[in-house]
Amino acid sequence: MSTLRFQALKESMLHRSLKVTENERRSVLFGENVFNQTTMLQSLTKDAYNSVMDAIENGSKIDRRIADQIASSMKDWALAKGVTHYTHWFQPLTGATAEKHDAFFEPLDNGQAIEKFGGGQLVQQEPDASSFPHGGIRNTFEARGYTAWDPTSPAFIYDTTLCIPTVFVAYTGEALDYKTPLLRALQSVDHAATAVAKYFDKNVKKVNASLGWEQEYFLIDSALAASRPDIVMTGRTLLGHSSAKGQQLDDHYFGSIPTRALNFMKDLEVECMLLGIPVKTRHNEVAPNQFEVAPVYEETNLAVDHNSLLMDIMSKVAARHNLKVLLHEKPFAGVNGSGKHNNWSLSTNTGVNLLSPGKTPMSNLQFLTFFINTIKAINDNEELMRAGIASASNDHRLGANEAPPAIMSVFIGEQLTAVLKELEGVTDGKLSPQEKTDLKLNVVGKIPEILLDNTDRNRTSPFAFTGNKFEFRAVGSKANCANPMTILNTIVAKQLADFKIEVDRLIDKKGLKKDEAVFNVLREYIKKSKDILFEGNGYSEEWEKEAKKRGLSNNKTTPEALKAKISKENIALFEKMGVMNEIEAKARYEIEIEEYVMRIQIEGRVLGDIARNHVIPTGIRYQNMLINNVTGLKELYGKDFKNYAKEQMEIIEEISEYIGKINTKVNEMTAERRKANKIEDLEKKASDYCNKVKPLFDQIRYNCDKLELLVDDELWPLTKYRELLFTR
Ligand code: ADP
Ligand code: MG
Repeated sequence: MSTLRFQALKESMLHRSLKVTENERRSVLFGENVFNQTTMLQSLTKDAYNSVMDAIENGSKIDRRIADQIASSMKDWALAKGVTHYTHWFQPLTGATAEKHDAFFEPLDNGQAIEKFGGGQLVQQEPDASSFPHGGIRNTFEARGYTAWDPTSPAFIYDTTLCIPTVFVAYTGEALDYKTPLLRALQSVDHAATAVAKYFDKNVKKVNASLGWEQEYFLIDSALAASRPDIVMTGRTLLGHSSAKGQQLDDHYFGSIPTRALNFMKDLEVECMLLGIPVKTRHNEVAPNQFEVAPVYEETNLAVDHNSLLMDIMSKVAARHNLKVLLHEKPFAGVNGSGKHNNWSLSTNTGVNLLSPGKTPMSNLQFLTFFINTIKAINDNEELMRAGIASASNDHRLGANEAPPAIMSVFIGEQLTAVLKELEGVTDGKLSPQEKTDLKLNVVGKIPEILLDNTDRNRTSPFAFTGNKFEFRAVGSKANCANPMTILNTIVAKQLADFKIEVDRLIDKKGLKKDEAVFNVLREYIKKSKDILFEGNGYSEEWEKEAKKRGLSNNKTTPEALKAKISKENIALFEKMGVMNEIEAKARYEIEIEEYVMRIQIEGRVLGDIARNHVIPTGIRYQNMLINNVTGLKELYGKDFKNYAKEQMEIIEEISEYIGKINTKVNEMTAERRKANKIEDLEKKASDYCNKVKPLFDQIRYNCDKLELLVDDELWPLTKYRELLFTR
């Protein structure tokens, strides 16, 4: 009997649901472990408090004396909660979070000790982080990296450590993380959107981009997960025959949440409350053992931090429940993969959502302005948007017959399609009073205030308007949202800046009134953005053909898709918007493409190992059992034995056939890997890994999965899909 699988199964049956009781209301717990505004109001001097608020709202610098005060208050607050260590918490270009804990404890000369934490330690730290990817930015001989406090994301306590969100930059100034370009993009979209919003309301001083992510994930029994080397090493199953029952009955989606999973969710949500992560929604997803958690949306930088933090604590909480969280986009073939919808909108300091229709024609014109500019931004930068979500793991969803396709398109629904059609007919230049009234009353004025319930849902669209926000659905479940959010906010910033220039020109040069100028520019944008609008089925073959005709990109693989990140125009775009310079943009490209290579390389190795060391020996063992049986039958029945051994002999041959194919294909794959490894040029290497190495995975898997169907269940060493997906 295969020991590990059966031991794991036995252990999983002993795993009971860990009951979680909530003794405190969530509103009371919320933010308890966060050094938030309320805490600051209570613990900081007025000067210090104002200084932090000014830094948050206007990006001003905090002086050293004030930083000392803040640090001291932070320390007192943390010590009172049993905290022993502090860390700068940052997001290097691995996409994950990083931390290096230092104790507050400090020995004195007199043999005693104190707890110490000063402004210097709060503001800046120098982790010896030479092993983080830097894509050539930090040549070892010149620049070190340092982390610097980001006051816009509040410090928090996790376990017994005070975590201070920081940016991570090289001494030469280049960003070594995902947060820094995001902060720059958010500043850029703030400036551009504020300038445009002022057309409609002079009081607007700041525009915040909001993000509400929806995190999908799988929850697998930890013993079962640990029994699969592929899950342990790559986060997904590289082989495994699909289970007889999968998601075809639709009996899991939105169904009653299994008790063990529910207790995990409760536990996770309580942790989230303490950390100020406003999670609100939980439900079963489409695939068995697949779930979703979503918060109330927040300012984007904070929302990104919260998602990164959530992904980290999910695994920790899961361990308490003997569960393993799989954040991979496609842990199981044949059932739904996981994504992370990024719901995005822009809102003003005056409390107006710029992507929400209002009560008056003027507020609706404002809505249309931001709505159409966003569509135009996607239209002009569709390939860059695709690049922002490219990863080896997300390739399994995008362009692989699963939601959403690798083609970017925007879905806006019937009503708004009709509105755009009307606007397209607006007269060139000055508008007659009659036309103006008409537009205001019959077109702009007719947009219902609540579009939410009216916008039809189109689940196949990668970028859909859903009533008062756009939903970027193609983001991968394990992605750091900073990457796609940096791109989205940058392209919208650029678009809005261009819009402002064009409108001002029409006002100054052509003497048009403001609303006339706005209508004129929007009309042209609608005409120019038609290619990106698509209301039909995004999974269909017709759409692929149609999209090709329209000239939309369809980059199905990461090596292809990433190239847009370093095109001349896009480097210029990032530079112009002050988001990344050329070195930073190229470094990210290099890191991401290298990561792609490494991921496929690891998968190839693991698959080769499993196929050779687990699957083939098992096939042989079963074959030997059959051979023994046949030999026995021959002894018993002499020359008539074939009457009784025919099927066994067929299976013996089939097994040999599969073993032969597996072995050949593994050899081929190893040879291709060896060749690819010798290639110096990173782009070529990635392309070979993608087009020569990876396709062999499917062929190896196919034959392994066939063997799984043949071999005695008692012998099969790898925990099966039905066990992974249906153990609750
Ligand atoms: P769905 O039906 O797609 O699950 P929900 O209404 O549940 O949509 O919202 C999903 C996410 O969108 C949540 O995180 C929610 O807070 C967020 N969201 C709602 N309104 C906005 C908005 N104006 N801007 C950004 N995110 C929003
Ligand atoms: Mg959604």
